[in-house]
Amino acid sequence: MPAVAASAARLPLSAARVDALVVGAGVAGLAAALELQAEGCEVVVVDPSDRPGGVIRTDHVAGFVLERGPNTLQIKPPIRAFLAARALLELLRPAAPESRLRYVWRDGRLLAVPGSVAGFAASRLLSLSGKLRMLAEPFVGRGQPEQESVAEFVARRLGAEVVEALVGPFLTGIYAGDEAELGAAAVFPALVEHELRSGSITGGMLRGALHRGGARGLPGTFSGSAGLGPFARSLADLLHEPPALGTRVVALSRDGDGWRVAVESAGGSTELHAPRVVLAAPALEAGRLLAAANPRAAEILDAIPYAPVVSVALGAERAAVRVPIEGFGFLVPRGEDLPILGCLYMSRQFPDRAPQGRELLQCMLGGTRWPAAPQATDEELFERALQALDRVIGLGGEPKRLAVARWPRGIPQPGRDHPARIRELRTCLRDVNGLALAGSYLAGVGVADSFASGLAAARQLLDV
Ligand SMILES: Cc1cc2nc3c(=O)[nH]c(=O)nc-3n(C[C@H](O)[C@H](O)[C@H](O)COP(=O)(O)OP(=O)(O)OC[C@H]3O[C@@H](n4cnc5c(N)ncnc54)[C@H](O)[C@@H]3O)c2cc1C
Repeated sequence: MPAVAASAARLPLSAARVDALVVGAGVAGLAAALELQAEGCEVVVVDPSDRPGGVIRTDHVAGFVLERGPNTLQIKPPIRAFLAARALLELLRPAAPESRLRYVWRDGRLLAVPGSVAGFAASRLLSLSGKLRMLAEPFVGRGQPEQESVAEFVARRLGAEVVEALVGPFLTGIYAGDEAELGAAAVFPALVEHELRSGSITGGMLRGALHRGGARGLPGTFSGSAGLGPFARSLADLLHEPPALGTRVVALSRDGDGWRVAVESAGGSTELHAPRVVLAAPALEAGRLLAAANPRAAEILDAIPYAPVVSVALGAERAAVRVPIEGFGFLVPRGEDLPILGCLYMSRQFPDRAPQGRELLQCMLGGTRWPAAPQATDEELFERALQALDRVIGLGGEPKRLAVARWPRGIPQPGRDHPARIRELRTCLRDVNGLALAGSYLAGVGVADSFASGLAAARQLLDV
């Protein structure tokens, strides 16, 4: 939109003093800025990128609509309430209903992930003994889930087969991570809570479902009508002052009760003063900016691990795909000999993302399984994706090599000690007035979680 594009080339910071400054125009920063603005604050958002949205990025290539970062989001209660209050829910649309069908590549074939208890009984994803072990969950004694990895927690409660066949691939899809390293309390806080309270996760879930009240999210997955990039841009357009793009915060220091913020762009450098600052940059950058003001907080932020992700987009003639494709796509469990983490059938989720008669296939590579993926050449990445897809869905003809997107620090990897680290981080910053953190490393790595963290950061600054 012109208002945003126009701010890229200059230092659009006319005021030396603002009520609030937000570092980062990803969803977390945009949510924080809009919430602060709604309470009457004059807000400036600063981001070095050429467009708002952070890792959200939609491009058009050869008639295909490509997501470089996230493909869909979930509408959890905070984002639902926020958008509904502003009549903005129509900016989002659900993926096609058939795309609820998801697959796992296991032992050389695609197996559907069951969507119901009856489906589980019939599914070939788990052996009979695996299913029986899963059903024994309510009789498993209470453990110490706060100290366990996801793999340990799920194997203890539901059996090792559930880890291999279901939870591992599911976490690959969200974290590109390793279930043996991700921490149960960070990744499945509600399930851990159920065990601690009820002694059983299935019993706890049942009780939770019966007693649930208040706001709910919407089922399914969503995107903007023209992709997530335009959705992020629509959020940015709601700001009275367009984000200062092409502009980076380079230093933060205390300034009486508030903050002195040094910013730089191609147009020069300047200083701003604000009583409130939301740090909505990724953990490493947030840590760098806090190094002088709070070295311990900086150290904790600096140590949060991230996994790299590479997204490889391919276009194929529908007629050349030998196995008819349907659903959301498939995920690849650890240990299977396919060189990708999974593939999203984007043209099945959102049919207008590909020209007529074509399929848009988006493969994810890298993660903790192949940390060097971002350093591989485009050629190698396309070859790996094509080789994998040819095995799984039989990709004949001449698939179009559309684009590669590299995210060397793509997704935070909350380990066993993550909740304790975040608690310590919050303790370190408790007495630091006028500063709040937002981002996907705090409490959930999805777009909706980051958005919620931005809203929470704004509330934290407004409530004092
Ligand atoms: C490849 C990939 C696929 C994903 N898929 C999904 C998905 O399908 N669904 C889902 O829900 N989630 C997905 N995620 C996760 C989700 O996209 C992110 O968690 C979320 O978008 C992060 O938003 P954020 O605002 O916290 O951070 P970011 O989007 O990283 O934004 C941070 C911003 O801070 C800016 N910044 C950095 N340093 C400075 C500085 N010094 N000064 C000013 N600004 C600065 C950056 O330029 C950036 O714009 C995916 C992530 C990746 C990488």
